[in-house]
Amino acid sequence: MPRSAELYERALGLLPGGVNSPVRAMRAIGRDPIFIAGGEGARIRDADGNEYIDWVGSWGPLILGHAHPTVIEAVIDAARRGTTFGAPTELELALAAEVTERFDSIELLRMTSSGTEATISAIRLARAVTGRERVLKFAGAYHGHVDGLLAQAGSGLATQAIPASPGVTEAAAAATVIVPWNDPEALTAATDRHELAAILVEPVPANMGVVPPARGFLALLRERADQNGALLVFDEVITGFRVARGGAQQRFGVCADLTLLGKIVGGGLPAAGFGGRRALMERIAPAGDVYQAGTLSGNPVAMAAGLSTLRLLDDDAYLQLERTTNALAGGLRAAAAGAGRLVQVQSAPGLVTVFFAEAPVRDYAGAAACDLDAYGAWCRALLARGVYPPASQFEAWFPSLAHTDADVGRTVDAAGAAFEAIA
Ligand SMILES: *Cc1c(COP(=O)(O)O)cnc(C)c1O
Repeated sequence: MPRSAELYERALGLLPGGVNSPVRAMRAIGRDPIFIAGGEGARIRDADGNEYIDWVGSWGPLILGHAHPTVIEAVIDAARRGTTFGAPTELELALAAEVTERFDSIELLRMTSSGTEATISAIRLARAVTGRERVLKFAGAYHGHVDGLLAQAGSGLATQAIPASPGVTEAAAAATVIVPWNDPEALTAATDRHELAAILVEPVPANMGVVPPARGFLALLRERADQNGALLVFDEVITGFRVARGGAQQRFGVCADLTLLGKIVGGGLPAAGFGGRRALMERIAPAGDVYQAGTLSGNPVAMAAGLSTLRLLDDDAYLQLERTTNALAGGLRAAAAGAGRLVQVQSAPGLVTVFFAEAPVRDYAGAAACDLDAYGAWCRALLARGVYPPASQFEAWFPSLAHTDADVGRTVDAAGAAFEAIA
């Protein structure tokens, strides 16, 4: 890949590690990054002209695939009318209405430009409302690069084995209580012991790989939050508009006090947000006294991308997404079995992880114990066969509505050959 290699060389002189977000560097799978030239539907093309079936989809936003004509048209149309005003526009209302219609727990919504900002702002609100400081999070969960939440976080931190980051103050880290995922006793002990502002949860964690909640675990979170006096904050930045039309709250029948959204809500442009019931959200400025702001929040071009994306996500779309996910997960399972490789394929609608583990992965300790070298070798073998997987064991594959049965078939064939190649 001469062109990618040349670009990476230049990038190292211009960007830390040659990238603008760590997992893109592909260090966890032992290779250099691939520079992308373009994408259409489920395909991407690299700077050297190689084509791949893309299962990353920009890590979640692209549920419709790359460059969907309806979304592109909406973006161009919005951009022609001006890209930002720093004043309210009607598009923000249209997107907010689509969101509140899907999420019973959201009456008012505040838009931000990233999921990280949504997390920061929702925690500020939870602390203001409860008058408490501590926030409970789960080991292996990722909620953006928020100072106090980087302890035992997943995603790029898991990939790079950084348990917490230098530059985070002791006070910020001390305000975080960490509990193992899917562990009811540890949760009960922690909620008995600490007065919490919030219980923060990825309802289907996907940043340690996909580790669905054990039966009843999300309902237990609701119960413990109420007994504690904490707000239950669902980070649906990935699961929102993906695992169901109304996110994990709809799929699992558990209602959050505050919900974080991102990725799909921006339709491939920078938009995210947080919402909840009116009484809580009216503490946010200028309705209330909790400050929160953003120059590009509710940006009209991003609103147009998000809106046109959400409007295409009807009931049929979710049936199709679930079918594609099951076909991919089942195919990968069969491919591994055919090659005599023991792996755990775990999934939720629109999310899949192939764990190189001997037993089902229930928590972060299980994910961290996987054979990361074998995963890396398998990913490199997939890339060589025209399939683009997440370049880390601690991330998900993101099936989209652009993936066809033929894409799944070709991927499963490549996966089987890749399992054989690394045996
Ligand atoms: C991606 C992600 C975030 C952070 O969103 P950014 O837009 O990258 O800041 C937060 N929570 C979860 C669950 C995510 O997957």
